[in-house]
Amino acid sequence: MLQEIINAFAPARCVDCLCEDTWYCERCRAHAPIATQSCIICKTERPRGTTCINCREETNITGIVSVAPYSNHALQRGIEWLKFKGIRPIADTLAGLIIPHLARIDSLDALSRCAILVPIPLHKNKLRQRGFNQSEDVAKAISALCNIQLAPILRRKKATKSQAKLSHDERPHNMHEAFEMAISKQEYSNIVARKPIIILIDDVSTTGATLMSASRAFPELPDVKIWCATIARG
Ligand SMILES: [Zn+2]
Ligand SMILES: [Zn+2]
Repeated sequence: MLQEIINAFAPARCVDCLCEDTWYCERCRAHAPIATQSCIICKTERPRGTTCINCREETNITGIVSVAPYSNHALQRGIEWLKFKGIRPIADTLAGLIIPHLARIDSLDALSRCAILVPIPLHKNKLRQRGFNQSEDVAKAISALCNIQLAPILRRKKATKSQAKLSHDERPHNMHEAFEMAISKQEYSNIVARKPIIILIDDVSTTGATLMSASRAFPELPDVKIWCATIARG
């Protein structure tokens, strides 16, 4: 606990070269790999990250945008610092990296009028253990920077095992019916009537199982589009 408090006030260090006074220095940013956007299921390259025609029957997700592959060590370190070391100020930097990619969904101006940001929730036991939800921190930072409404309207009802510890084949089963709505169907309808673009926010997506399970928790309504935005793609 004491270590977490210390980390919350940790002096900034570049996630890549570890130089001081910045979470991501200009020099390293200039060399950052450019993300290739791809279909959430089959990972075929798609300029906007939209779900390809062959995979559309398997998910109600319209598309996914990400900053870079998880193999990018700078991003990996940034996520680890936030998630496991509790260095929460870095959420602003990670959010800043996602924002340019949100423009693949629609203009940031349109998103501020028509979209909501829904962070992937943690189960209450995990939340108690970690003390914060890293995806919510990132979503909050995006919301503050872009004026897109934050709407934590999902709840994780199942204490799932860490997806990272399971094989790719085991992951969908682990996530099956893991989420539910935290608000009534009527409240949900009222929100999406004004803001029909849902953007699910998570730190990492590998098989897409978590995001696809979360997207299935939303009641089906015409004209609502469900997008995902993650820092890294596995
Ligand atoms: Zn650097
Ligand atoms: Zn596909």
